[in-house]
Amino acid sequence: MSGTLYLVPTPIGNLGDLSPRAAETLGAADFVAAEDTRVTLKLLNHFGIKKPLVAYYRHNTQAGGQTILRRLLAGENCALVSDAGTPAVSDPGEELVGLCVAHGIPVVALPGPCALTTALSVSGLPTGRFTFEGFLAMNKKNRRDHLKSLENEERTMIFYEAPHKLASTLADLCRTFGAERPVALCRELTKLHEEVVRTTLGQALEKYEAEPPRGEFVLVVAGAAPQAAAPPSQEDALARVAQLRGKGLSLKDAAKQVSQELGLPRNQLYALAVEQER
Ligand code: SAM
Repeated sequence: MSGTLYLVPTPIGNLGDLSPRAAETLGAADFVAAEDTRVTLKLLNHFGIKKPLVAYYRHNTQAGGQTILRRLLAGENCALVSDAGTPAVSDPGEELVGLCVAHGIPVVALPGPCALTTALSVSGLPTGRFTFEGFLAMNKKNRRDHLKSLENEERTMIFYEAPHKLASTLADLCRTFGAERPVALCRELTKLHEEVVRTTLGQALEKYEAEPPRGEFVLVVAGAAPQAAAPPSQEDALARVAQLRGKGLSLKDAAKQVSQELGLPRNQLYALAVEQER
């Protein structure tokens, strides 16, 4: 029988956030797959956990994935961790989960620290509907295309960003969404210098262009105001009248039905429909 892959979230800054279940799972696994074995070794040492470590990082997902898969198929249990936060969320792990699912290996996810949900919950922006956009691409065209696809996005948007790229990302966000769009810049969450700046994209750009930012950031950007639905056009209304006429309705009845469906004045629509049939 195969073993199980456990996805174990680790603290994003505050070691107190490692859950008892996460520590127990790390302690019970046969081995731990880690993004950076040195980072994870420190964490395991802190909690007095001794475990064999296997490297699983962005550039070895092929070979590393196959090694882990073989061991899981042979019946061992693996705990997957990343450097911080929830594995497989903008972190290596997504491919390994896919590989395990494809081979019928059980995958168990533990809930725990995650930068995106921590930032969203503290942002003060609407949380009912949101979209996680991860990191914007380095490549200019992909970046532009990504932002273009969000131009009319009404849900709250969450981006991860590295400090040295923050100012240029804010400039791109300003160009796409306008300087007045509200944003919460969540920095160093759960750490000593934790800070949440709730402002507009324009003011954020001014601030961080002037003082180069430090630390890790999540940007939570308000969605666009809902668009009013476009009123039905005259052409649409007449096309619908013609459709109903095709089904055998009299001109008068067709105009009456369409005026009710589209909320248009009945007499005006009837006059246009008469004109159309001349
Ligand atoms: N899988 C992790 C998670 O979802 O929590 C995220 C890993 S991703 C490689 C790293 C990014 O997460 C950082 O560039 C930053 O945008 C965000 N991040 C991680 N820890 C953070 C913290 N303590 N405060 C703010 N942002 C953080």
